[in-house]
Amino acid sequence: MIRINKVSTFMAYADQLPPEVLADINQRISDWLNSGGTMEDPYIQQQFNYAERILNQAKEQEEIPFVAFGNDELDGNDPVGTHEICPNCGEEHEVGYGEKVNPDGTREPSKLLAFITCTKSGATYLIGIKGKKIK
Ligand SMILES: [Zn+2]
Repeated sequence: MIRINKVSTFMAYADQLPPEVLADINQRISDWLNSGGTMEDPYIQQQFNYAERILNQAKEQEEIPFVAFGNDELDGNDPVGTHEICPNCGEEHEVGYGEKVNPDGTREPSKLLAFITCTKSGATYLIGIKGKKIK
């Protein structure tokens, strides 16, 4: 979950917001400040909360893998190992994982999607979801 409670965090996520939402929030904050409000007012936090909701909704949608698998569909499959056979060259390559961005902006490995990069072609192949191999 993304949590926005200060301007710097809002700025860090600003480019992930739909342009119309960002424009809307910027306008409301500008109007507020121009009418004598301050950045410390609860009204500003309301705008951040709004941005937060939009970002978290977008994130939930993103985390649904683009290859459609049911929740139980991969349960019977083998777990992803540290090295897996490459669909391109047939040799084993090291398995890599994606990253997720934490609310404070730090990144940590996410095991949601496992992939290998072929050392011969340089192409990346999605080979596992949630620790289970795709067959
Ligand atoms: Zn390969």
